[in-house]
Amino acid sequence: MSNYQLFQNDLPKQILKTFKTSISVDTETMGLVIKRDRLCLVQIKNNSDGENYLIQINDKIDPKKCQNLKTLLENKKILKIFHYARFDIAVLKHYLKINVNNIFCTKIASKLIRTYTNRHGLKDLISEFLKIDIDKKEQSSNWSNKSLSKDQIWYALNDVKYLHEIYQVLNAELKKKSLIKEYDEIISFLKTKVRLDLMGWDFDIYSH
Ligand code: MN
Repeated sequence: MSNYQLFQNDLPKQILKTFKTSISVDTETMGLVIKRDRLCLVQIKNNSDGENYLIQINDKIDPKKCQNLKTLLENKKILKIFHYARFDIAVLKHYLKINVNNIFCTKIASKLIRTYTNRHGLKDLISEFLKIDIDKKEQSSNWSNKSLSKDQIWYALNDVKYLHEIYQVLNAELKKKSLIKEYDEIISFLKTKVRLDLMGWDFDIYSH
């Protein structure tokens, strides 16, 4: 298992200066209904030094209690790599009042690049680009447990472990295929999309 540090509700302030160019981020919740299923865990991998941080989020947390996490995620210079950012960003906004800036979503990039498939799960990307098979069985475990099991911790770390490598492959492909402009515009709309999701317009507003 990778090394990690576990914190409650926020990162310690002194860690903030160790983040340089990019971080990989994931969240675990009680389920997929954002306003019903609370945020339980935020996983961060510092891609500059490889350090992993797990931040357990308490039930009914006061967003004022996670100011360092907010500072990091709202920082415009540090890239945040997610897989399916739409969900994580909505959860972070709803529960912690964090508005994430400078986002890369490996799922959106995959949809633009990998037109030969409709399989855009993290597992599919890791398997195709890195030839590694990851286990997703803890996905539906109870993340609100005060003490997380070894399997849960392993799973949580695994979800951010390969994001940076996948980002590098996909970003190079976006450039090669001249899709950066489309990609950037999709990402700029993501903030609006997330706001619409949280307001209840969680469908394709452009559809017939
Ligand atoms: Mn995850």
